[in-house]
Amino acid sequence: MTISEAIDNTIREVPDFPKKGIMFKDITPILKDVDLSKQITEAFVSELGSMEIDAVVGIESRGFLFGMALAHSLGVPFCMVRKKGKLPGDTIEHAYDLEYGQAIIEMHKDALEKDWNVLVHDDLLATGGTACAAAELINKLEANVIGFAFLVELSFLKGKDRLENYSNNIVSLKTY
Ligand code: AMP
Repeated sequence: MTISEAIDNTIREVPDFPKKGIMFKDITPILKDVDLSKQITEAFVSELGSMEIDAVVGIESRGFLFGMALAHSLGVPFCMVRKKGKLPGDTIEHAYDLEYGQAIIEMHKDALEKDWNVLVHDDLLATGGTACAAAELINKLEANVIGFAFLVELSFLKGKDRLENYSNNIVSLKTY
């Protein structure tokens, strides 16, 4: 079985969560499967390992799970992007539009070094708004976005088109 098939077989679809009309892709059954979780980290490393990655940025909160595992496997630092107000140190922030209203995300000012090549990771790519906001934070710290890695991509929402403004290296292990 391919990694894509294994993710498809294991991920749980929850209709109308967190609101009506959303088909939520729940990765918790994947986290329960130790072998699959290891295979996912290995699959990311085999897709990304040839790139010169200096750090992995994970997006709150499900981007922390495989993001940290991936950073460890690559032997590079891990950095958290969090919702405004959660990080204790000096931060930079970026505001972006949601379907209704705005969201603000933050990163510690000292999380990355200038000119580092940084990989952005989250569990799922939908419209791409969140990953683009993370890319903006990376650029504000004068580091480079070297690529993006997701477990799941909802390709019908065309998030990839927006990410290509930052990097063409976009890895999704399972595309719907
Ligand atoms: P977007 O900014 O539209 O690409 O949304 C991506 C963020 O929202 C990620 O952090 C995802 O975890 C979450 N998300 C969006 N849509 C879904 C979905 N259908 N199932 C699970 N998570 C989702």
